[in-house]
Formats: sequence, structure tokens, C-alpha cells
Amino acid sequence: ANITRPWTRQISAWRQAIRDKDSSVNAFVSISSPGQPSAEHAPLHNFAIAVKDMICTSDMPTTSSSAMLKDFVSPLDATVVTLLRQAGADLVGKLNCDEFGMGSLNVHSVHGPVVNPFQTASAIPSVPWKEREKRSAGGSSGGSAASVAAGMCYAALSTDTGGSTRLPASYCGVVGLKPSYGLISRWGVISFADSLDCVGVMAADVCATKRVFDILNAYDAKDPTSASPDARQRASQEATKAWPTSSLKDLRIGIPHEYFPSELSDEVLTPVREAIQGLKSRGAIIVPVSLPSTPYALSAYYVISSAEASSNMARYDGVQYGLHIPAPPGADLANAATMYARTRSIGFGSEVQKRILLGTYALTADAFDNYFLQAQRIRRLVREDFNRVFRVPDVLSSSLTASRPDNEGVDVLLHPSAIRTAPPLDSVDTDGLQTYVQDVLTVPASLAGLPALSVPLKNNGEEWPSRNTFGHGVTYASFSPIMSR
Ligand code: GLN
Repeated sequence: ANITRPWTRQISAWRQAIRDKDSSVNAFVSISSPGQPSAEHAPLHNFAIAVKDMICTSDMPTTSSSAMLKDFVSPLDATVVTLLRQAGADLVGKLNCDEFGMGSLNVHSVHGPVVNPFQTASAIPSVPWKEREKRSAGGSSGGSAASVAAGMCYAALSTDTGGSTRLPASYCGVVGLKPSYGLISRWGVISFADSLDCVGVMAADVCATKRVFDILNAYDAKDPTSASPDARQRASQEATKAWPTSSLKDLRIGIPHEYFPSELSDEVLTPVREAIQGLKSRGAIIVPVSLPSTPYALSAYYVISSAEASSNMARYDGVQYGLHIPAPPGADLANAATMYARTRSIGFGSEVQKRILLGTYALTADAFDNYFLQAQRIRRLVREDFNRVFRVPDVLSSSLTASRPDNEGVDVLLHPSAIRTAPPLDSVDTDGLQTYVQDVLTVPASLAGLPALSVPLKNNGEEWPSRNTFGHGVTYASFSPIMSR
């Protein structure tokens, strides 16, 4: 964890890379004007960082990739933006994403889809990259992953509600960290589903990810869900007690067999197996574990996230923020409803409308018991599954259960982040259920509020990156066990 990557690139070089590459990637939706350089001793001096367009900035629009907010400029910076600026980062721009974070392939965006910038050196050498098959960068934070993968910025901020950091990180072959729920402030971050939303960090390697995470990992009194200083201290004490060194020796790595479903492609499975063997040969103890509620997590996630989204989206009413489509001339007051309906029908894309309908239905008196409450029960079971297998207690969770007294629990879990490689953009079926299945391996950590990290495995340069990408060591309570290993 102490290795720091020397990075000598000047800010102008990052900005040049954006000019050279983004026309084929479509990761950026706004680019800032260059400001004064930061002080040389500032921790992020000379680092170009871009943020997902759901994170508010006072000097650029924040659209959430929605027609609803196309012209919205926030009067304030989000706390994470303030922290980055204070650390001397150059906020180079805002990044494309699925509308309000809803999606897995970054195709639901008023700015158009993001194209996965990964290019293999030797796969199809005779075909220039721009003419090769276009693949999805993953979503919803596709712009964040693609901007890092294309070398257009040192790191990017994303959000992660059910996998939006880890899935695009996997498809683009970069590192994606979803920290524990509550560690990074959400103040000034546009809400999708508040009980699940986290700000994520993406970068080319783990050290860069940690460097940016360390700047953002702070209590924020403005965010009522921010983990308290006391909980942070307890988490760090537990972590130091459990993992006094960063050696792999005797690290207990759990392999949950439910995370190796039949849909998992061999291309993904083989390198994960190799990684497990590699860790074993370096002294780690591999422990097969079971998380039996996993198969229900995806459905529970979509019910809970849509219910919360339907409530969050209510604020876009044609009056308070963003788009306003008036009722037709001659309408009387009762036609305020017409204004509301027209604004929302035009302002929201089809995926957002679908989630509002699903979420509103799940919260109706008829469906509440069978959908919303059942989903909450599953959420509890998913959490209990994790509680049963980990060695260290979850100090950030209010529904604490004791750690395993027998010391037989695991320190981290290891499994693939995604079931497949990045899908070709022209094969994406936006109406089918297939895109929702992409999230099957990422949603459980979100439901439990656990940290998760997607890390690219070695790649021979001939395949799409996620062929060799596994990820998402899930640990308890604190980022540090992951980051120190
Ligand atoms: N793909 C998931 C969804 O559409 C997760 C999105 C996210 O994490 N923001 O809900």
C-alpha cells in the first residue's frame, strides 16, 4: 500500500488526451476551462480528475445524462468535488453515465452511449481501432471507466448503487472501488436510491485509487448517512487488530460458490481460477463458503432501488429543477397535472420511467407486502449471510451480529465481478431482461453496504479486458483490508 506511482504528466497533456480521444469514446459531457495550477505540494497537484455527471459542480452543468436536467447548473460543489479541489486536483470535466445512474451498459443517456476504449494490440491488427466492433463501456458509470481506460484522466469519480462502479471497471479493465456505505459523502450527489448509493473511485491501478479515496474518506456533517468519526475509528482499530501486516500469508480468502453461476463464461472463470491458485501459492488460505441468499439478491435490489428511485424522481416536477414543459394554452389550474405529466414524459427516458412505474407499484398498498417488504427481508438475509462468513464484525452496520468467535471466518471474499465480457453495443437489447442480469454478482455487496473492489487480472492484450477481470473482494467494515492487500 505504500507504493506510490510516480506520475509526471502535466495537466496540459491530460487535456490534450481528451481532445485526441474523446470524439471516439464519448466519455466527457462537459470539459472545464483550465484554471490556475495548484500548489506543487498539494497531494493531487498535476492530477487530472473527472467526475460522473451525477455529482454537482458549480462551474459545469450536472445533467445526470437526462433531458430533465440538460441545462441544470448547481449553485454548489458536492463535498467530494470540494475535497478534490482542496487537494489540488484539476477537475477536467464531467462524465457520461446512464440516466440518473439507472442502467448497466451506459446506453440510456441523453448524450449517447459510451464506447469502450479498450483496444487490443494484436487481436485484429489489420483493422484500425475506430473501425473495430464497438463495445459497451458498462454502466452506469461508463464515462468514468472509459475516461481512465483511455488515459484521459488519472482517476474518475463514479457512483455505485448496485454495481455501477464495478461493472464498468470490469468491462474497461480498470480498478473500481465501491467503498463501504457512508464512508464518502453523498452531499451534492444526485440521488438514485439513498439506502444503496455510494460514491466510487476508478483509476488505472490500486495505488492511484487509494490515493484519491484517502482524500475523500472523511466524515461530512452535511450528509446524514455519513459514517460517524467514532465508527470510522472503530473500523480502523478492528482492521489493524485483524490484519497487522499486509502479508498474504494466512489471509483467509472465501470463495462463495453461489458467485460462480452457470451463466459465467469460461473466459471469465479460467483467469479467476488462476488467480485463486496464485494467491494460494503465496500463502493465502482458500476457504469455500456459501452465501445462500445470493440468488434472491437481484430481484430484491431492483424492487428496493426502484421504490427509492420513484420517490427521489418526484422532485423533478417541472417547477423546482430543470425542465419545465407548460400545459397547453388555455389550460386551467387543474392542468398543473398536465404540465407535470408532459414535463416528466418528455424529460425522463424510458428506463427511468420504467423504474418509476415499478417502484411506485411496489409501494402501493396492494403490492407493498408482497414486493417491498419481501425485498427488505431478503436484504436482511443477504446481510446475515455475510455476517456469518466474515471473521471481523461489521462495525459500520447498525444491525450488528457478532463476529465468528471460532476464528474460522474469512477476511475477504473473492469472485468474478461480471459474468461476461463487454457486450457489443449493437447487440444491446434495451427492452429485454438481459441487461439486468449483468448485476447479479455486484448487488449483494450493495444491499449489505459492504466495500467491494473490482481489479483487472493480467491480460495478454489479445482479449477484451473483462475476460481477465475478476474482482470484488468484499471485506467487512473497512476499506483498509482490501487496500493493504
Ligand atoms: N445496473 C444497476 C441499475 O441499473 C446498478 C446501477 C448503479 O449502480 N447505479 O440499477
